[in-house]
Amino acid sequence: MADCIFCKIVAGEIPSEIVFKDDRVTAFRDIHPVAPTHILIVPNKHIASINELQPEDEGLMGYLFTVERKLAEQEGIAQSGFRSIINTGPDSGQEVHHLHLHLIGGQRMRHPMG
Ligand code: AMP
Repeated sequence: MADCIFCKIVAGEIPSEIVFKDDRVTAFRDIHPVAPTHILIVPNKHIASINELQPEDEGLMGYLFTVERKLAEQEGIAQSGFRSIINTGPDSGQEVHHLHLHLIGGQRMRHPMG
C-alpha cells in the first residue's frame, strides 16, 4: 500500500528500530512507547485490520503471537508479564491502518477493563 507507513517500514523505506524481521512479519519499537518495552509486530503484507482478515491469514495471525512470545523472552518480560493489544476501528482508537500487535511490558499496568 503506497501510503501506508507500516508498509514503508517493512520495505525499509523509512527508518525504524527493527527488532525482528523475516519473510512473514516485521517487529519494531513503537515511536511513542507507553512502557519500557513497546514493540509493534506487523504482517509484512498489508492487512488494514482484523476486519479485513481472510481465512488464509489464520496461520499468519498465529505466527504474530509466536513472534511476540519470542520477543517477550528476548526483552526479559516473559515471566513478569506483558500486554498484547490489537486495535480495530474508530472506537478502539486505531491510528495506523495496517494490522499490528502491540507488545507492551516492563512495568506494572493497571487493569484496562472496568
Ligand atoms: P494504533 O493506535 O493501535 O493504531 O497504534 C499505532 C501505533 O503506531 C502508535 O502506538 C504509534 O506510536 C505507532 N507509530 C506510528 N508511527 C510510527 C513509526 N513511524 N514508527 C514506530 N511506531 C509508530
